[in-house]
Amino acid sequence: MGEFELIERHFVRPTPRAALGPGDDCALFTVAAGQQLAVSSDMLVEGRHFLSTVPPARLGHKALAVNLSDLAACGAEPLAFTLALALPRADEAFVAPLAQGLFALADRHGIELVGGDTTAGPLNLCITVMGQVPAGQALLRSGARPGDQLWISGRLGDARLALEVFRGQVALAAPDFEAVRLAMECPEPRVALGLALRGLASSAIDVSDGLLGDLGHILRRSRVGARLHLPALPCSAVLAAQPRPLQHECLLRGGDDYELLFTAPASRAAAVREAGARAAVAVTPIGVVTAEPGLCAVDEDGREQVLPARGFDHFA
Ligand code: ADP
Ligand code: MG
Repeated sequence: MGEFELIERHFVRPTPRAALGPGDDCALFTVAAGQQLAVSSDMLVEGRHFLSTVPPARLGHKALAVNLSDLAACGAEPLAFTLALALPRADEAFVAPLAQGLFALADRHGIELVGGDTTAGPLNLCITVMGQVPAGQALLRSGARPGDQLWISGRLGDARLALEVFRGQVALAAPDFEAVRLAMECPEPRVALGLALRGLASSAIDVSDGLLGDLGHILRRSRVGARLHLPALPCSAVLAAQPRPLQHECLLRGGDDYELLFTAPASRAAAVREAGARAAVAVTPIGVVTAEPGLCAVDEDGREQVLPARGFDHFA
């Protein structure tokens, strides 16, 4: 199977929303008046961002999910995406389920693959998503104010726990492993929550590199500090059953969570809960924004400790 046959067979679908989909030198689409275009790219490299054990359908899902998560963090409505793909071989048995996983998530969000690039090379997927947000309403990292509450969607830490199992550091019963593996391989982007938080959250980010690191981005951009309440961090029953140091490591520095971390004025707490209910995702208050810079955490015994607000760094 050649390059163009592979694209045609697996990646070209009808694109009724776009003015022009794949097949020409550019895709074209029209952005509604009064909307800003929100654009983000995320690359998944084998051995770096995923293991060779990932089922291809889940890999297709995850490649798009991590990108949609960025749109969610900005409160943008997804429109379209492109896919740049490097494949060692034109292997049907791999590409067909990859495309299925990708389009299953795309269809749930009503977005179209409008173009891309396909080449031979070490397995690598780079997606660029495009979305729209009413001008001036995007959620940014820079709006947190002292006194705001700090919130997290969903649960943290399961993806990291799964990684520790793959690394041979932790052993779990088979159903527990399946549950955390699903969190690692099939994250659910919080798009509906991002939309519901427009006009409500003062800042937002998606947690991809660990809570501490991504919280650090909000704190630096907003020139504030935070006090985190560790017992409030939402985690699964599987993670809650692990020794506390491992729990804290997964919750605080885990990465690959793709939950929304956001701030909102304390007076809007009821509205935040309502936004979570509308988006059908749990939202949990986990701390407060402070005027003093730096990050401090209060643990289960009421002890305070200063934490470094740094996350995963590919080159550190
Ligand atoms: P060009 O040479 O102009 O860069 P290509 O020959 O690389 O174009 O691609 C041909 C067409 O197929 C283009 O419209 C491109 O957007 C589309 N395309 C290539 N790879 C993919 C892919 N993985 N998914 C969707 N569309 C793709
Ligand atoms: Mg061209």
